Amino acid sequence: MMYDVNKVREDFPILAREVYGRPLIYLDNGATTQKPRQVVEAMMDEYYNVNANVHRGVHFLSQQATDLHEASRETVRKFINAKSTNEIVFTRGTTESINLLAFSLGEAMVKEGDEIVVSAMEHHSNIVPWQMLCERKGATLRVIPMTDEGELELGRLEELLNPHTRIVCCTHVSNVLGTINPVKRIVEIVHAHGIPVLIDGAQSVPHMPVDVQDIDCDFFAFSGHKVYGPTGVGVLYGKEEWLEKLPPYQGGGEMIKNVSWERTTYNVLPYKFEAGTPDYVATHALAKAIEYVTALGMDNIYAHEQELTQYAIERMQQIEGMRIMGEATHRDAVISFLVGDIHHLDMGTLLDRLGIAVRTGHHCAEPLMTRLGISGTVRASFGLYNTKEEVNTLVEGIERVSRMF
Ligand code: PLP
Repeated sequence: MMYDVNKVREDFPILAREVYGRPLIYLDNGATTQKPRQVVEAMMDEYYNVNANVHRGVHFLSQQATDLHEASRETVRKFINAKSTNEIVFTRGTTESINLLAFSLGEAMVKEGDEIVVSAMEHHSNIVPWQMLCERKGATLRVIPMTDEGELELGRLEELLNPHTRIVCCTHVSNVLGTINPVKRIVEIVHAHGIPVLIDGAQSVPHMPVDVQDIDCDFFAFSGHKVYGPTGVGVLYGKEEWLEKLPPYQGGGEMIKNVSWERTTYNVLPYKFEAGTPDYVATHALAKAIEYVTALGMDNIYAHEQELTQYAIERMQQIEGMRIMGEATHRDAVISFLVGDIHHLDMGTLLDRLGIAVRTGHHCAEPLMTRLGISGTVRASFGLYNTKEEVNTLVEGIERVSRMF
């Protein structure tokens, strides 16, 4: 199939708007993506025509809403190739997925003297919940180091693993450097020691085909809003044998089997981890987003964004004083950069005036910034609707801002 980016853009009404009288060039897809009509209309349709609380109703609408919600779970299962819908827990996003896991796994199996391993390039969402767990339990956080090129030092990973290691947590794609980590290899190394692995897929799921059985990770987290779906919904995948072993995260409705003053028993998977009314409108819209990207083809999206990223890097490298962070061999559609001694905030603010939306700052990865010896970067991150023309405008914009300094 020919990937027709201009046709794709027609599905995203926001891309036609202007900011400061200039066409919007949205290059902040790492933070969140824009939504196609198919997603927004599915939400409107559900609120207008179906809305009822799921799971607890005998009436028609409740059953219809439940059917949509559970069909969405199947859509997610298929999308990441999990074995069973029992392995798909709906959360509010990657952050909540990781907090859920850190709490439940922490309760089940972390004690004083234990160790948790994360990587040098994690988002705060995959650092802080583990730090909090370590503080609660008297455990220690250890870090897989990174080369100057922005690749994890897998030789050093082996040295970090020991009988006290309870889990290894690693991002699939760095939200700062764009590095695509060799997650299959990481899982292999860690599994050889009988230790489970969590992969943070927040930045991979929107850009490439993901198969959790092929990766063989024990847990995998991602956010709906970064994959063209709505805000407020995300997923924690966990192998069934693991989720069975872990205690619930939050208590409340839906996660129980029976409640009495003496004793409460818990529901089966995945409901054990889904206390309270889920955002069933968002889960349905997430399924629509997944159907949308699946119809375009994740391979096609990957190829389009790879071409765009290569083109952008080549053009940007010609800008005087340009410093692109990270030179990993396998990299995704995220480019973090600095030009000369221009502050990232100044660059971002002036690009914004040209209609170009980029992100500036530490990108919720302060330890990585410390490792790079900088306070922040400008970050352009591409999505399935970005074009070479937009990259050209970005490059011209950076050059124009540079000339001003
Ligand atoms: N992990 C990575 C790698 C991210 O890039 C992000 C968001 O930027 C998150 C986790 C947190 O995602 P959310 O805010 O949707 O929970």
